[in-house]
Amino acid sequence: MEIDGKTRIYCIIGYPVEHSLSPAMHNAAFRSLGLNCAYVAFRVSLEALGDAVRGLKALGVEGFNVTIPHKVEVMRYLDEVDPVAKAIGAVNTVKRVGKKLHGYNTDGAGALTALTEAGVTLPAKKAVVMGAGGAARAIAFALASNVRDLVILNRTVARGATLAEALKEHSKIAVRAASLNRTVLTEELAEADLLINATSTGMHPQPESPVASDLLRPGMVVFDIVYSPLETQLLREARSKGLKTVDGVGMLVHQGARSFEIWLGKKPPIDVMRHAVLERLGRG
Ligand code: NAP
Repeated sequence: MEIDGKTRIYCIIGYPVEHSLSPAMHNAAFRSLGLNCAYVAFRVSLEALGDAVRGLKALGVEGFNVTIPHKVEVMRYLDEVDPVAKAIGAVNTVKRVGKKLHGYNTDGAGALTALTEAGVTLPAKKAVVMGAGGAARAIAFALASNVRDLVILNRTVARGATLAEALKEHSKIAVRAASLNRTVLTEELAEADLLINATSTGMHPQPESPVASDLLRPGMVVFDIVYSPLETQLLREARSKGLKTVDGVGMLVHQGARSFEIWLGKKPPIDVMRHAVLERLGRG
């Protein structure tokens, strides 16, 4: 698609942002649908965030994604934040509506779609979510209506406890938080049917698994949202034990697909987006 005076601009802001797969994914979708749209990445420091958001608004950029470390802070600069994103406490998608900017969070819905697309039956009886950062919060809120018993395990226990309290206000399921350590994992994984890694452990350059492989038990589904590398040590060990595994690509693609739908009001070509991501990850 040739860029001209009518090209509509979308972007991602983050720091760093050069590694982002979103430009490849969204530009592939725009090309495939013949849309006169382009998606670029902007490296925006924390100090520059307010100016950057005001600038995007002034320029009439149609929509943008927000990544680490701006997902929470960006909310200060938006005119409206939808209730789901407000409950999660983070925004990853912004749409310009006239002269206003509206914020959304598509990470949780993207994760749920990735699970169901991979054939995982929901609701699960008991899910263990490792992590309490931005992605874990989005996933936990989405899971709250798709699981009966939810356990949040995090290195920083207080952060996990804050998330558990927020979930209790939001849903009626049994939810608790504890420390991410071997003793707790041994106890909590004994009856879990879904284990989700939403920590950055396993992501390059932290290649280790957050769970010792002897704690993975038969019948459990293991979902690792880390997508770089695509096959994390956790997934490799789970697969070698014959467990069903779900990698991070599905979530990445489906959170992007939801952003696309919010911006353009139409369904994106999921397979085209997935192919663009896998190609970038060397699996195309
Ligand atoms: P974040 O807000 O910075 O949270 C990081 C989480 O990882 C926190 O729970 C943190 O625990 C934990 N953690 C970090 N280093 C750890 C270590 N050495 N041992 C134990 N726990 C550790 O990041 P995020 O946005 O939630 O992202 C988390 C991961 O998900 C990243 O790898 C990211 O690439 C991936 N992600 C994937 C998708 C997707 O679409 N597939 C979407 C979003 C994010 P503390 O609270 O104790 O610091």
